[in-house]
Amino acid sequence: MSTSSNTKTGERRRHSGVSTRRSTDRPVTVTIHPQGPTEVSNMPRLQGSGNFDLIRAAIAQTRRNTVEYDSSVFTVAREHTSKLIDGLAAHFGRVRVIHYISVRSRCTSECWTANPNTVSKCKCACAGMNHGSYEPLGRIVGHSRAGDVSVREATKKHVYFVEG
Ligand SMILES: [Zn+2]
Repeated sequence: MSTSSNTKTGERRRHSGVSTRRSTDRPVTVTIHPQGPTEVSNMPRLQGSGNFDLIRAAIAQTRRNTVEYDSSVFTVAREHTSKLIDGLAAHFGRVRVIHYISVRSRCTSECWTANPNTVSKCKCACAGMNHGSYEPLGRIVGHSRAGDVSVREATKKHVYFVEG
């Protein structure tokens, strides 16, 4: 007997053999932010305090207030993230992780006021991205030998799956 189906995605096939009680586009999801607590969403509703109990067991914490809940999202302190992911993956078979990190780009005025034709000679931390633009990259945060220093913060997102 075959369980293959044309409706299954390539992603689902890669993880074949893992039983999921959820549709594959709404797996239990852990969201990691650069700062602040880690979130759990798309968790199936368990009886009573089952969701809290499961999360507390995963992170090996007994105190009630180590897990908070608001608008169908559970949160725990960032330091518990690894245990949380492992525990939820062990229970649900698979966890989707949405991992945000803060990425900082830098450029100096020596670079952004340079001739754009010299971009291949750029030695600035912007790697030529802002070379000769005549604009700082984001906001000016200080001064160096290469002139004013500007930075731009961006958030980078990495989505991956952890198997139980
Ligand atoms: Zn630059």
